[in-house]
Amino acid sequence: MLSTMMDRPLLLDTFMERAATEFGEIGIVSRRPDKTLHRHTYADMVARAKRLAAALVDLGIAPGDRVATLSWNHYAHLEAYFGIPAMGGVCHMVNIRLAPEDIAWIINHAGDRVLIVDDVLLPLYRRFADAIDVERVIVVPLTGEPVPDDLADYERVLAQARDDFVYPEKSEYDACGMCYTSGTTGRPKGVTYSHRSTVLHALTGSLPDNLNLSYNDTVLPVVPMFHVNAWGLPYMATMTGAKQVLPGPHLDAESLLDLYAAENVNVSAGVPTIWMGILNALDAEPERWALRADLRMTVGGSAAPESMLRRFDAHGLTVIQAWGMTETSPMGTTGRLKPAIRAMDSDTQYAKRATVGTSVPLVDIRIVDADGQVASRDGESMGELQIRGPWIAGGYYGLDNSDDNFTADGWLRTGDIATMDGDGYIDITDRTKDVIKSGGEWISSVHLENEIMGHPDVAEAAVIARADERWGERPLAAVVPRDGGEFDPGSLRAFLLERMPKWMVPEDIVVVAAIPRTATGKFSKRDLRAQLGHAKPG
Ligand code: AMP
Repeated sequence: MLSTMMDRPLLLDTFMERAATEFGEIGIVSRRPDKTLHRHTYADMVARAKRLAAALVDLGIAPGDRVATLSWNHYAHLEAYFGIPAMGGVCHMVNIRLAPEDIAWIINHAGDRVLIVDDVLLPLYRRFADAIDVERVIVVPLTGEPVPDDLADYERVLAQARDDFVYPEKSEYDACGMCYTSGTTGRPKGVTYSHRSTVLHALTGSLPDNLNLSYNDTVLPVVPMFHVNAWGLPYMATMTGAKQVLPGPHLDAESLLDLYAAENVNVSAGVPTIWMGILNALDAEPERWALRADLRMTVGGSAAPESMLRRFDAHGLTVIQAWGMTETSPMGTTGRLKPAIRAMDSDTQYAKRATVGTSVPLVDIRIVDADGQVASRDGESMGELQIRGPWIAGGYYGLDNSDDNFTADGWLRTGDIATMDGDGYIDITDRTKDVIKSGGEWISSVHLENEIMGHPDVAEAAVIARADERWGERPLAAVVPRDGGEFDPGSLRAFLLERMPKWMVPEDIVVVAAIPRTATGKFSKRDLRAQLGHAKPG
Protein backbone atom coordinates (compact mmCIF):
# COMPACT_ATOMS: atom_id res chain seq x y z
CA MET A 1 0.00 0.00 0.00
CA LEU A 2 1.34 3.44 -0.87
CA SER A 3 1.41 6.08 1.84
CA THR A 4 -0.60 9.28 1.72
CA MET A 5 2.56 11.40 2.03
CA MET A 6 3.62 13.94 -0.60
CA ASP A 7 6.41 12.98 -2.90
CA ARG A 8 8.67 16.01 -2.38
CA PRO A 9 12.34 15.65 -3.39
CA LEU A 10 15.17 16.18 -0.88
CA LEU A 11 16.97 19.19 -2.41
CA LEU A 12 19.59 21.69 -1.27
CA ASP A 13 17.27 24.38 -2.71
CA THR A 14 15.08 24.01 0.39
CA PHE A 15 18.07 24.60 2.70
CA MET A 16 18.83 27.81 0.80
CA GLU A 17 15.34 29.24 0.86
CA ARG A 18 14.80 28.45 4.53
CA ALA A 19 18.19 29.93 5.45
CA ALA A 20 17.27 33.19 3.70
CA THR A 21 13.82 33.49 5.24
CA GLU A 22 14.19 31.94 8.72
CA PHE A 23 17.66 33.12 9.74
CA GLY A 24 18.69 35.54 7.06
CA GLU A 25 20.37 37.76 9.65
CA ILE A 26 22.75 35.10 11.01
CA GLY A 27 26.35 35.74 10.08
CA ILE A 28 28.90 34.15 7.78
CA VAL A 29 32.36 35.39 8.67
CA SER A 30 35.36 34.70 6.43
CA ARG A 31 38.99 35.46 6.96
CA ARG A 32 40.64 36.99 3.94
CA PRO A 33 44.27 36.28 2.98
CA ASP A 34 45.33 39.60 4.61
CA LYS A 35 43.64 38.38 7.82
CA THR A 36 40.88 40.99 7.77
CA LEU A 37 37.35 39.65 8.21
CA HIS A 38 34.66 39.64 5.55
CA ARG A 39 31.14 39.57 6.99
CA HIS A 40 27.86 38.81 5.42
CA THR A 41 24.68 36.96 6.34
CA TYR A 42 22.66 33.98 5.16
CA ALA A 43 20.41 36.42 3.31
CA ASP A 44 23.47 37.77 1.45
CA MET A 45 24.82 34.28 0.84
CA VAL A 46 21.59 33.00 -0.68
CA ALA A 47 21.05 36.11 -2.83
CA ARG A 48 24.60 35.87 -4.17
CA ALA A 49 24.40 32.09 -4.69
CA LYS A 50 21.27 32.65 -6.81
CA ARG A 51 23.09 35.30 -8.82
CA LEU A 52 25.91 32.82 -9.41
CA ALA A 53 23.31 30.26 -10.52
CA ALA A 54 21.76 32.78 -12.93
CA ALA A 55 25.19 33.71 -14.30
CA LEU A 56 26.05 30.05 -14.93
CA VAL A 57 22.76 29.56 -16.79
CA ASP A 58 23.56 32.61 -18.92
CA LEU A 59 27.00 31.16 -19.66
CA GLY A 60 25.25 28.14 -21.14
CA ILE A 61 25.97 25.78 -18.27
CA ALA A 62 23.33 23.06 -18.31
CA PRO A 63 22.00 20.77 -15.57
CA GLY A 64 24.55 18.04 -14.88
CA ASP A 65 27.51 20.15 -16.03
CA ARG A 66 30.49 20.34 -13.71
CA VAL A 67 31.79 23.61 -12.31
CA ALA A 68 35.10 23.30 -10.46
CA THR A 69 36.26 25.28 -7.43
CA LEU A 70 39.88 25.83 -6.45
CA SER A 71 39.34 27.65 -3.20
CA TRP A 72 40.00 27.98 0.49
CA ASN A 73 37.13 28.05 3.01
CA HIS A 74 35.30 31.37 2.58
CA TYR A 75 32.04 33.07 1.59
CA ALA A 76 32.48 32.62 -2.17
CA HIS A 77 33.18 28.91 -1.81
CA LEU A 78 29.98 28.62 0.23
CA GLU A 79 28.09 30.45 -2.51
CA ALA A 80 29.47 27.94 -5.02
CA TYR A 81 28.41 25.05 -2.74
CA PHE A 82 24.81 26.20 -3.10
CA GLY A 83 24.67 28.32 -6.27
CA ILE A 84 26.05 25.63 -8.60
CA PRO A 85 23.61 22.88 -7.48
CA ALA A 86 20.74 25.41 -7.45
CA MET A 87 20.89 25.66 -11.25
CA GLY A 88 21.37 21.91 -11.59
CA GLY A 89 25.16 21.97 -11.88
CA VAL A 90 27.67 19.86 -10.00
CA CYS A 91 30.13 21.64 -7.70
CA HIS A 92 33.45 19.88 -8.21
CA MET A 93 35.66 20.75 -5.25
CA VAL A 94 39.27 20.37 -6.35
CA ASN A 95 41.94 19.65 -3.75
CA ILE A 96 44.45 22.49 -3.99
CA ARG A 97 47.14 20.41 -2.28
CA LEU A 98 47.52 18.02 -5.19
CA ALA A 99 50.35 18.30 -7.68
CA PRO A 100 49.40 20.61 -10.61
CA GLU A 101 49.43 17.74 -13.11
CA ASP A 102 47.02 15.75 -10.92
CA ILE A 103 44.73 18.76 -10.65
CA ALA A 104 44.72 19.08 -14.44
CA TRP A 105 44.00 15.37 -14.83
CA ILE A 106 41.08 15.57 -12.41
CA ILE A 107 39.58 18.67 -14.05
CA ASN A 108 39.83 17.03 -17.47
CA HIS A 109 38.45 13.73 -16.25
CA ALA A 110 35.47 15.46 -14.61
CA GLY A 111 34.92 17.45 -17.82
CA ASP A 112 34.63 20.70 -15.86
CA ARG A 113 33.27 23.54 -18.01
CA VAL A 114 33.97 26.42 -15.62
CA LEU A 115 36.64 26.91 -12.96
CA ILE A 116 36.17 29.26 -10.02
CA VAL A 117 39.57 30.05 -8.48
CA ASP A 118 40.77 32.26 -5.62
CA ASP A 119 43.04 35.07 -6.74
CA VAL A 120 45.66 33.90 -4.23
CA LEU A 121 45.66 30.51 -5.97
CA LEU A 122 46.31 31.94 -9.44
CA PRO A 123 50.02 30.96 -9.26
CA LEU A 124 48.88 27.35 -8.78
CA TYR A 125 46.31 27.71 -11.60
CA ARG A 126 48.99 29.03 -13.97
CA ARG A 127 51.00 25.85 -13.43
CA PHE A 128 48.29 23.68 -15.03
CA ALA A 129 46.32 26.23 -17.08
CA ASP A 130 47.69 25.00 -20.40
CA ALA A 131 46.76 21.41 -19.61
CA ILE A 132 43.01 22.02 -19.16
CA ASP A 133 40.36 23.35 -21.50
CA VAL A 134 37.60 24.79 -19.32
CA GLU A 135 35.53 27.40 -21.13
CA ARG A 136 35.60 30.06 -18.45
CA VAL A 137 37.81 30.85 -15.48
CA ILE A 138 36.23 33.06 -12.82
CA VAL A 139 38.54 34.61 -10.23
CA VAL A 140 37.41 35.40 -6.68
CA PRO A 141 39.15 38.69 -5.77
CA LEU A 142 39.94 38.01 -2.11
CA THR A 143 42.88 40.41 -1.97
CA GLY A 144 41.26 43.37 -3.73
CA GLU A 145 43.96 43.22 -6.42
CA PRO A 146 42.56 43.62 -9.97
CA VAL A 147 41.70 40.36 -11.72
CA PRO A 148 43.88 39.72 -14.81
CA ASP A 149 42.20 40.88 -18.04
CA ASP A 150 42.08 37.43 -19.61
CA LEU A 151 40.01 36.03 -16.71
CA ALA A 152 36.54 36.87 -15.37
CA ASP A 153 36.08 38.72 -12.06
CA TYR A 154 33.67 36.82 -9.76
CA GLU A 155 32.25 40.02 -8.27
CA ARG A 156 31.61 41.45 -11.71
CA VAL A 157 29.98 38.20 -12.83
CA LEU A 158 27.62 38.38 -9.83
CA ALA A 159 26.95 42.10 -10.28
CA GLN A 160 25.99 41.58 -13.93
CA ALA A 161 23.83 38.51 -13.25
CA ARG A 162 20.04 38.57 -13.32
CA ASP A 163 18.39 38.68 -9.90
CA ASP A 164 15.27 36.76 -10.96
CA PHE A 165 16.72 33.26 -10.72
CA VAL A 166 14.11 30.48 -10.55
CA TYR A 167 15.16 27.03 -9.34
CA PRO A 168 14.71 24.49 -12.13
CA GLU A 169 12.88 21.24 -11.39
CA LYS A 170 15.31 18.58 -10.18
CA SER A 171 15.36 15.03 -9.00
CA GLU A 172 16.78 14.37 -5.55
CA TYR A 173 19.01 11.80 -7.23
CA ASP A 174 20.71 14.46 -9.37
CA ALA A 175 24.38 15.05 -8.56
CA CYS A 176 25.11 18.27 -6.67
CA GLY A 177 28.77 17.83 -5.69
CA MET A 178 31.88 15.95 -6.65
CA CYS A 179 35.22 15.12 -5.04
CA TYR A 180 38.06 12.91 -6.20
CA THR A 181 39.73 10.41 -3.92
CA SER A 182 43.40 11.24 -3.80
CA GLY A 183 44.57 8.22 -5.75
CA THR A 184 46.07 5.55 -3.53
CA THR A 185 46.90 3.29 -6.42
CA GLY A 186 46.61 4.49 -9.95
CA ARG A 187 44.46 7.47 -10.85
CA PRO A 188 42.16 9.39 -8.50
CA LYS A 189 38.52 8.33 -8.68
CA GLY A 190 35.53 10.67 -8.78
CA VAL A 191 32.73 10.44 -6.23
CA THR A 192 29.53 12.32 -7.01
CA TYR A 193 27.15 13.27 -4.22
CA SER A 194 23.42 13.74 -4.86
CA HIS A 195 21.03 16.31 -3.43
CA ARG A 196 19.39 13.44 -1.57
CA SER A 197 22.62 12.01 -0.14
CA THR A 198 23.79 15.48 0.91
CA VAL A 199 20.49 16.39 2.60
CA LEU A 200 20.27 13.08 4.47
CA HIS A 201 23.94 13.33 5.50
CA ALA A 202 23.36 16.87 6.81
CA LEU A 203 20.27 15.83 8.75
CA THR A 204 22.01 12.90 10.40
CA GLY A 205 25.26 14.76 10.98
CA SER A 206 23.39 17.47 12.89
CA LEU A 207 21.78 15.05 15.38
CA PRO A 208 22.68 15.38 19.07
CA ASP A 209 24.83 12.25 19.11
CA ASN A 210 26.77 13.46 16.08
CA LEU A 211 27.72 17.13 15.64
CA ASN A 212 24.70 18.34 17.62
CA LEU A 213 24.08 21.52 15.62
CA SER A 214 21.48 24.24 15.98
CA TYR A 215 21.11 27.93 15.21
CA ASN A 216 22.55 28.63 18.65
CA ASP A 217 25.92 27.34 17.49
CA THR A 218 28.89 28.91 15.75
CA VAL A 219 30.73 26.52 13.49
CA LEU A 220 34.28 26.79 12.18
CA PRO A 221 35.26 24.04 9.72
CA VAL A 222 39.06 23.81 9.67
CA VAL A 223 38.70 20.81 7.38
CA PRO A 224 38.99 22.26 3.88
CA MET A 225 35.91 22.73 1.73
CA PHE A 226 37.97 21.00 -1.01
CA HIS A 227 38.20 17.79 1.03
CA VAL A 228 34.97 15.76 1.25
CA ASN A 229 32.65 18.77 1.48
CA ALA A 230 34.37 20.02 4.64
CA TRP A 231 32.75 16.90 6.16
CA GLY A 232 29.33 18.29 5.27
CA LEU A 233 29.55 21.15 7.82
CA PRO A 234 28.64 23.94 5.36
CA TYR A 235 25.42 22.06 4.49
CA MET A 236 24.64 21.19 8.11
CA ALA A 237 25.20 24.77 9.27
CA THR A 238 23.06 26.19 6.46
CA MET A 239 20.33 23.67 7.25
CA THR A 240 20.28 24.49 10.96
CA GLY A 241 21.13 28.20 10.74
CA ALA A 242 24.35 27.94 12.71
CA LYS A 243 26.68 30.92 12.29
CA GLN A 244 29.62 30.00 10.05
CA VAL A 245 33.20 31.14 10.52
CA LEU A 246 35.42 30.28 7.56
CA PRO A 247 39.17 30.56 8.20
CA GLY A 248 40.45 31.18 4.64
CA PRO A 249 44.08 30.18 4.18
CA HIS A 250 45.10 30.75 7.82
CA LEU A 251 45.10 27.34 9.46
CA ASP A 252 47.91 27.78 11.99
CA ALA A 253 46.99 27.27 15.64
CA GLU A 254 47.31 30.91 16.65
CA SER A 255 45.09 32.20 13.83
CA LEU A 256 42.45 29.60 14.61
CA LEU A 257 42.50 30.24 18.34
CA ASP A 258 42.15 33.97 17.72
CA LEU A 259 39.12 33.32 15.54
CA TYR A 260 37.55 30.88 18.04
CA ALA A 261 37.80 33.52 20.73
CA ALA A 262 36.81 36.56 18.65
CA GLU A 263 33.80 34.93 16.96
CA ASN A 264 32.61 32.80 19.90
CA VAL A 265 33.06 29.52 18.05
CA ASN A 266 31.76 26.40 19.82
CA VAL A 267 31.90 23.73 17.09
CA SER A 268 34.95 22.93 14.99
CA ALA A 269 36.25 20.04 12.92
CA GLY A 270 39.60 19.03 11.46
CA VAL A 271 42.37 16.46 11.23
CA PRO A 272 44.57 15.47 14.22
CA THR A 273 47.48 17.57 12.93
CA ILE A 274 45.43 20.73 13.46
CA TRP A 275 44.46 19.72 16.99
CA MET A 276 48.05 18.84 17.89
CA GLY A 277 49.08 22.36 16.91
CA ILE A 278 46.23 23.85 18.92
CA LEU A 279 47.12 21.72 21.94
CA ASN A 280 50.72 22.84 21.86
CA ALA A 281 49.64 26.49 21.66
CA LEU A 282 47.20 26.02 24.55
CA ASP A 283 49.78 24.21 26.66
CA ALA A 284 52.28 27.01 26.06
CA GLU A 285 49.88 29.84 26.96
CA PRO A 286 46.77 28.39 28.60
CA GLU A 287 45.40 31.77 29.69
CA ARG A 288 45.89 33.60 26.42
CA TRP A 289 42.63 32.76 24.61
CA ALA A 290 39.13 33.22 26.05
CA LEU A 291 37.55 30.17 24.47
CA ARG A 292 33.96 29.11 24.97
CA ALA A 293 33.68 26.49 27.71
CA ASP A 294 31.45 24.38 25.45
CA LEU A 295 33.91 24.38 22.51
CA ARG A 296 33.90 20.92 20.98
CA MET A 297 36.08 19.68 18.17
CA THR A 298 35.46 16.75 15.90
CA VAL A 299 38.61 14.99 14.81
CA GLY A 300 38.82 12.62 11.86
CA GLY A 301 40.77 11.80 8.73
CA SER A 302 43.36 9.80 10.64
CA ALA A 303 43.63 8.31 14.09
CA ALA A 304 43.52 10.61 17.12
CA PRO A 305 45.60 9.20 19.97
CA GLU A 306 44.05 8.80 23.40
CA SER A 307 46.73 11.12 24.82
CA MET A 308 45.33 13.92 22.69
CA LEU A 309 41.83 13.47 24.13
CA ARG A 310 43.25 13.52 27.66
CA ARG A 311 45.30 16.64 27.00
CA PHE A 312 42.28 18.50 25.61
CA ASP A 313 40.19 17.44 28.59
CA ALA A 314 42.82 19.05 30.82
CA HIS A 315 41.95 22.35 29.08
CA GLY A 316 38.23 21.66 29.60
CA LEU A 317 37.66 21.16 25.85
CA THR A 318 35.98 18.18 24.23
CA VAL A 319 37.34 16.24 21.28
CA ILE A 320 35.02 13.80 19.52
CA GLN A 321 36.43 11.33 17.04
CA ALA A 322 34.71 10.49 13.77
CA TRP A 323 35.54 8.25 10.84
CA GLY A 324 34.75 8.60 7.19
CA MET A 325 36.14 8.86 3.70
CA THR A 326 35.53 10.66 0.41
CA GLU A 327 33.29 7.79 -0.64
CA THR A 328 31.14 8.13 2.51
CA SER A 329 30.30 11.88 2.28
CA PRO A 330 32.11 11.37 4.83
CA MET A 331 30.25 10.58 8.04
CA GLY A 332 30.25 6.88 8.91
CA THR A 333 30.88 6.78 12.66
CA THR A 334 31.12 9.18 15.60
CA GLY A 335 32.63 8.59 18.99
CA ARG A 336 29.97 9.67 21.46
CA LEU A 337 29.67 7.69 24.68
CA LYS A 338 26.56 5.57 25.17
CA PRO A 339 24.84 5.91 28.58
CA ALA A 340 26.13 2.57 29.92
CA ILE A 341 29.71 3.62 29.13
CA ARG A 342 29.31 6.95 30.88
CA ALA A 343 28.75 4.92 34.05
CA MET A 344 32.09 3.11 33.62
CA ASP A 345 35.51 4.10 34.93
CA SER A 346 37.43 6.91 33.30
CA ASP A 347 40.05 4.69 31.60
CA THR A 348 37.33 2.66 29.89
CA GLN A 349 35.68 5.85 28.72
CA TYR A 350 38.96 7.12 27.25
CA ALA A 351 39.54 3.77 25.54
CA LYS A 352 36.10 4.02 23.90
CA ARG A 353 36.65 7.64 22.93
CA ALA A 354 39.94 6.72 21.29
CA THR A 355 38.05 4.46 18.88
CA VAL A 356 36.21 5.98 15.93
CA GLY A 357 32.92 5.35 17.74
CA THR A 358 29.76 3.71 16.50
CA SER A 359 27.85 3.81 13.22
CA VAL A 360 25.61 6.81 12.60
CA PRO A 361 21.90 6.33 11.80
CA LEU A 362 20.98 5.10 8.30
CA VAL A 363 24.33 3.47 7.55
CA ASP A 364 25.17 -0.20 8.10
CA ILE A 365 28.71 -1.22 8.98
CA ARG A 366 30.18 -4.70 9.10
CA ILE A 367 33.69 -6.02 9.66
CA VAL A 368 34.53 -8.84 7.26
CA ASP A 369 37.47 -11.12 8.02
CA ALA A 370 39.94 -12.67 5.59
CA ASP A 371 37.61 -15.68 5.13
CA GLY A 372 34.75 -13.44 4.06
CA GLN A 373 32.87 -13.95 7.34
CA VAL A 374 31.40 -11.14 9.42
CA ALA A 375 33.81 -10.84 12.38
CA SER A 376 32.51 -11.15 15.94
CA ARG A 377 31.86 -8.01 17.92
CA ASP A 378 34.58 -8.85 20.41
CA GLY A 379 36.98 -5.94 20.00
CA GLU A 380 39.67 -8.34 18.77
CA SER A 381 38.58 -10.00 15.52
CA MET A 382 39.99 -7.93 12.70
CA GLY A 383 38.63 -7.52 9.24
CA GLU A 384 37.83 -5.01 6.57
CA LEU A 385 35.34 -2.30 7.44
CA GLN A 386 32.51 -2.42 4.90
CA ILE A 387 29.69 0.09 4.78
CA ARG A 388 26.46 0.84 2.92
CA GLY A 389 23.86 3.57 3.16
CA PRO A 390 22.14 6.43 1.34
CA TRP A 391 25.25 8.68 1.34
CA ILE A 392 27.82 5.96 0.60
CA ALA A 393 29.22 5.77 -2.95
CA GLY A 394 27.96 2.80 -4.93
CA GLY A 395 30.40 3.45 -7.77
CA TYR A 396 32.88 5.93 -9.21
CA TYR A 397 32.32 8.59 -11.85
CA GLY A 398 32.93 7.23 -15.32
CA LEU A 399 34.18 3.87 -14.08
CA ASP A 400 32.77 0.40 -14.32
CA ASN A 401 31.13 -0.25 -10.96
CA SER A 402 32.23 -3.84 -10.86
CA ASP A 403 35.40 -2.31 -9.39
CA ASP A 404 36.69 -4.46 -6.55
CA ASN A 405 35.94 -1.61 -4.13
CA PHE A 406 32.38 -2.94 -3.98
CA THR A 407 31.15 -6.34 -2.83
CA ALA A 408 28.73 -8.44 -4.86
CA ASP A 409 26.06 -7.86 -2.20
CA GLY A 410 26.29 -4.06 -2.41
CA TRP A 411 28.71 -2.83 0.26
CA LEU A 412 31.63 -0.42 -0.13
CA ARG A 413 34.96 -2.01 0.73
CA THR A 414 36.79 0.75 2.59
CA GLY A 415 40.26 -0.76 2.68
CA ASP A 416 40.39 -0.01 6.42
CA ILE A 417 41.11 -2.85 8.79
CA ALA A 418 39.10 -2.61 12.00
CA THR A 419 37.67 -4.36 15.03
CA MET A 420 34.24 -3.82 16.59
CA ASP A 421 33.53 -4.42 20.26
CA GLY A 422 30.35 -5.63 21.94
CA ASP A 423 29.13 -2.04 22.33
CA GLY A 424 29.58 -1.35 18.61
CA TYR A 425 32.73 0.80 19.00
CA ILE A 426 34.95 0.47 15.95
CA ASP A 427 38.72 0.70 16.12
CA ILE A 428 40.70 1.28 12.91
CA THR A 429 43.84 -0.80 13.22
CA ASP A 430 45.46 -0.53 9.81
CA ARG A 431 44.86 0.20 6.18
CA THR A 432 44.98 -2.33 3.45
CA LYS A 433 46.50 0.28 1.21
CA ASP A 434 49.92 1.66 1.92
CA VAL A 435 49.07 5.27 1.47
CA ILE A 436 50.65 7.82 3.81
CA LYS A 437 48.31 10.23 5.55
CA SER A 438 50.18 13.44 6.33
CA GLY A 439 48.33 16.35 7.92
CA GLY A 440 45.04 14.93 6.69
CA GLU A 441 46.14 14.58 3.08
CA TRP A 442 47.15 11.46 1.23
CA ILE A 443 50.64 10.91 -0.08
CA SER A 444 50.65 8.03 -2.53
CA SER A 445 53.56 5.75 -1.79
CA VAL A 446 53.44 4.44 -5.33
CA HIS A 447 53.67 7.94 -6.74
CA LEU A 448 56.63 8.76 -4.49
CA GLU A 449 58.40 5.52 -5.32
CA ASN A 450 58.01 6.16 -9.00
CA GLU A 451 59.54 9.60 -8.67
CA ILE A 452 62.38 8.38 -6.44
CA MET A 453 63.19 5.62 -8.83
CA GLY A 454 63.60 8.28 -11.50
CA HIS A 455 66.74 9.53 -9.72
CA PRO A 456 69.87 8.36 -11.54
CA ASP A 457 71.56 6.95 -8.41
CA VAL A 458 68.57 4.88 -7.27
CA ALA A 459 68.15 1.23 -8.17
CA GLU A 460 64.89 0.69 -6.34
CA ALA A 461 62.88 2.29 -3.57
CA ALA A 462 59.88 1.66 -1.37
CA VAL A 463 58.02 4.17 0.74
CA ILE A 464 56.26 3.44 4.01
CA ALA A 465 54.60 5.62 6.61
CA ARG A 466 56.28 6.44 9.86
CA ALA A 467 54.30 7.82 12.77
CA ASP A 468 54.75 11.55 13.29
CA GLU A 469 53.49 13.54 16.24
CA ARG A 470 52.70 16.64 14.23
CA TRP A 471 51.52 15.30 10.87
CA GLY A 472 50.10 11.94 11.91
CA GLU A 473 52.28 10.19 9.38
CA ARG A 474 55.24 11.14 7.23
CA PRO A 475 56.73 9.17 4.37
CA LEU A 476 59.95 7.26 4.91
CA ALA A 477 61.83 6.19 1.81
CA ALA A 478 63.99 3.07 1.76
CA VAL A 479 66.42 3.32 -1.14
CA VAL A 480 68.72 0.78 -2.76
CA PRO A 481 71.60 2.68 -4.45
CA ARG A 482 72.49 1.84 -8.01
CA ASP A 483 75.52 -0.45 -8.25
CA GLY A 484 75.70 -0.49 -4.46
CA GLY A 485 77.54 2.84 -4.71
CA GLU A 486 77.65 5.93 -2.53
CA PHE A 487 74.35 7.70 -2.12
CA ASP A 488 73.52 11.30 -1.19
CA PRO A 489 70.01 11.66 0.32
CA GLY A 490 70.30 15.46 -0.07
CA SER A 491 70.50 15.19 -3.83
CA LEU A 492 67.43 12.93 -3.87
CA ARG A 493 65.47 15.46 -1.80
CA ALA A 494 66.46 18.27 -4.15
CA PHE A 495 65.44 16.06 -7.08
CA LEU A 496 62.02 15.40 -5.52
CA LEU A 497 61.44 19.03 -4.57
CA GLU A 498 61.56 19.90 -8.26
CA ARG A 499 58.85 17.35 -8.98
CA MET A 500 56.28 17.50 -6.21
CA PRO A 501 54.98 19.74 -3.43
CA LYS A 502 57.39 20.06 -0.50
CA TRP A 503 55.00 18.44 1.99
CA MET A 504 55.08 15.22 -0.01
CA VAL A 505 58.87 14.93 0.02
CA PRO A 506 60.20 12.55 2.71
CA GLU A 507 62.55 13.93 5.35
CA ASP A 508 63.67 10.40 6.10
CA ILE A 509 65.61 8.57 3.43
CA VAL A 510 67.39 5.41 4.52
CA VAL A 511 69.75 3.30 2.46
CA VAL A 512 69.06 -0.45 2.46
CA ALA A 513 70.75 -3.36 0.68
CA ALA A 514 67.49 -4.72 -0.75
CA ILE A 515 63.72 -4.20 -0.50
CA PRO A 516 62.05 -7.33 0.92
CA ARG A 517 59.68 -9.02 -1.51
CA THR A 518 56.59 -11.19 -1.30
CA ALA A 519 56.30 -14.61 -2.91
CA THR A 520 54.89 -13.02 -6.02
CA GLY A 521 57.84 -10.67 -6.33
CA LYS A 522 56.09 -7.50 -5.09
CA PHE A 523 57.62 -5.25 -2.47
CA SER A 524 56.60 -6.46 0.97
CA LYS A 525 55.93 -3.27 2.86
CA ARG A 526 54.94 -5.27 5.90
CA ASP A 527 58.39 -6.83 6.06
CA LEU A 528 60.02 -3.50 5.30
CA ARG A 529 58.15 -1.84 8.15
CA ALA A 530 59.23 -4.60 10.51
CA GLN A 531 62.82 -4.34 9.28
CA LEU A 532 62.92 -0.59 9.81
CA GLY A 533 61.02 -0.71 13.11
CA HIS A 534 57.95 1.15 11.88
CA ALA A 535 55.32 -1.51 12.38
CA LYS A 536 51.80 -0.08 12.30
CA PRO A 537 49.90 -0.41 15.55
CA GLY A 538 47.15 -3.00 15.91
P1 AMP B 1 39.80 10.43 2.69
O1 AMP B 1 38.97 9.78 1.64
O2 AMP B 1 40.97 11.17 2.16
O3 AMP B 1 38.96 11.28 3.58
O4 AMP B 1 40.44 9.31 3.62
C1 AMP B 1 39.66 8.30 4.21
C2 AMP B 1 40.53 7.42 5.06
O5 AMP B 1 41.06 8.14 6.17
C3 AMP B 1 39.77 6.27 5.69
O6 AMP B 1 39.60 5.19 4.80
C4 AMP B 1 40.69 5.93 6.87
O7 AMP B 1 41.78 5.12 6.45
C5 AMP B 1 41.22 7.27 7.28
N1 AMP B 1 40.47 7.78 8.44
C6 AMP B 1 39.44 8.64 8.43
N2 AMP B 1 39.03 8.91 9.69
C7 AMP B 1 39.82 8.19 10.52
C8 AMP B 1 39.91 8.04 11.95
N3 AMP B 1 39.13 8.71 12.78
N4 AMP B 1 40.86 7.19 12.43
C9 AMP B 1 41.68 6.53 11.60
N5 AMP B 1 41.66 6.64 10.25
C10 AMP B 1 40.74 7.46 9.72
